[in-house]
Amino acid sequence: MSHTPPVYDYVVIGGGTAGSVIASRLTENPDVTVAVIEGGPSDVGRDDVLTLRRWMGLLGGELDYDYPTVEQPRGNSHIRHSRARVLGGCSSHNTLISFKPLPSDWDEWEAAGAKGWGAVPMEAYFARLKNNIVSVDEKDRNAIARDFVDAARSALGVPRVEGFNRKPFTEGVGFFDLAYHPENNKRSSASVAYLHPVMDERPNLTLLLETWAYRLELDGTRAEGVHVRTKDGEELLIRARNEVVLCAGAVDSPRLLLHSGIGPAQDLRALGIPVVHDLPGVGENLLDHPESVIVWETHGPIPENSAMDSDAGLFVRRDPDHAGPDLMFHFYQIPFTDNPERLGYERPEFGVSMTPNIPKPKSRGRLYLTSADPSVKPALDFRYFTDEDDYDARTLVDGIRIAREIAKTEPLAGWLKREVCPGPEILGDAELSEYARKVAHTVYHPAGTCRMGAADDELAVVDPELRIRGLDGIRIADASVFPTMTAVNPMIGVLMVGEKAVDLIGGDPR
Ligand SMILES: Cc1cc2nc3c(=O)[nH]c(=O)nc-3n(C[C@H](O)[C@H](O)[C@H](O)COP(=O)(O)OP(=O)(O)OC[C@H]3O[C@@H](n4cnc5c(N)ncnc54)[C@H](O)[C@@H]3O)c2cc1C
Repeated sequence: MSHTPPVYDYVVIGGGTAGSVIASRLTENPDVTVAVIEGGPSDVGRDDVLTLRRWMGLLGGELDYDYPTVEQPRGNSHIRHSRARVLGGCSSHNTLISFKPLPSDWDEWEAAGAKGWGAVPMEAYFARLKNNIVSVDEKDRNAIARDFVDAARSALGVPRVEGFNRKPFTEGVGFFDLAYHPENNKRSSASVAYLHPVMDERPNLTLLLETWAYRLELDGTRAEGVHVRTKDGEELLIRARNEVVLCAGAVDSPRLLLHSGIGPAQDLRALGIPVVHDLPGVGENLLDHPESVIVWETHGPIPENSAMDSDAGLFVRRDPDHAGPDLMFHFYQIPFTDNPERLGYERPEFGVSMTPNIPKPKSRGRLYLTSADPSVKPALDFRYFTDEDDYDARTLVDGIRIAREIAKTEPLAGWLKREVCPGPEILGDAELSEYARKVAHTVYHPAGTCRMGAADDELAVVDPELRIRGLDGIRIADASVFPTMTAVNPMIGVLMVGEKAVDLIGGDPR
């Protein structure tokens, strides 16, 4: 534990994706002091964390908070939501696929009440990012992934994209941009890019690692600091002279607010948590990118080279009036049968998978507490596939059909021996929907649980300056503030939220 007195200009709760950006940027001014409260250990020197291709080994392990979902009557109740417990947060255990959100994503935010967050002003924040964002390197481009790209082009007539961040797109297939260092497969996570270069050099930056924030300290409506428990079980109040910045992510930011008495008054009372501030939107608007899977056995082994085993992807726009792509696919160079195995399917020795994914799902979920005990995990009810028009499930059915068209097309077809799941005999809408929903998985993109919105939006938790409505001295900056889901993978959006938060905070010492 640090011997510095526990009062800082800014207290950043969560040294994850957005938190690393904010802590690094604020301490560029040597007169500003910042404490980062991070539940996990450092990632420095940890090859298991820093090597991108080892990401799957982290899921469910000691660095994963591992949140279950509540029963999903129309989906897969077995989904576990990985959330990283390590410096850099989920950018330290994710696949680092890097998409600048599309202009239509930001404009949707602005239309949802996030004034100032439209595509034009947001462009500058992408340019500021310090991560090494590059296309999958030539040496990492697996032959079967290349053939997937060519087959998708021929089967669907979509353009091949080289560099998805170069210009906005509505459809296309190609290798992803990743935040990594191809020469050694090391991550360019938020911690690597923003904290490692400065953390030993800035006396004004204090990292309190393996320290858990369990309740905010408020004086009336003003946030004064946060109560934490250190690794050794010591309880401390860490005070903020200027502001508390909550960056604990889409699960843990609302969780901390609820345990601090900030949230829907009725729910808090029912659990015996004293209500400090009635804010009905906390935990509402739980978003995700669900996806399904279709798996093929290949005739033999697949070449070994890869950046992280899912290096290429496809975007399709089925509805020409849709603002951006309305169906996305990851291509996995592995037979991803974890969920189908529960339905009795067997994992082939060699195989590949395509995962149809819903860029703009319509179902909305909710996060809530089941206990006043802060150590009990919150309940996550994604309400997968519950939207009125059945848009979400229909998107996956369309996806499976499109995936089959690609699989029939050369040069991919020659690699594939047979469709393992759902299996060629599953053809009808109802059967495909049943399969797609029961094996549905997440790509771990929870967002939206403290959404940003306009003053007349009752369920908005933060205003467009990221300040918690009705409170002083506290902002939220992480994936929880997303008003709507980005059509693309959200990490770059979260980093950009971090960069913009720094501008909004201003960062003067007191
Ligand atoms: C397995 C996986 C793969 C993914 N792949 C991609 C991808 O390829 N591309 C993409 O765009 N997105 C991907 N994502 C999603 C993306 O990583 C997240 O949306 C993003 O990193 C979230 O950032 P955040 O700042 O909101 O939260 P996080 O990065 O999760 O940061 C939260 C931090 O707060 C800490 N914390 C939480 N609660 C407390 C507390 N009470 N006290 C102290 N510390 C606390 C945590 O330890 C963590 O470090 C993936 C996610 C996962 C899990």
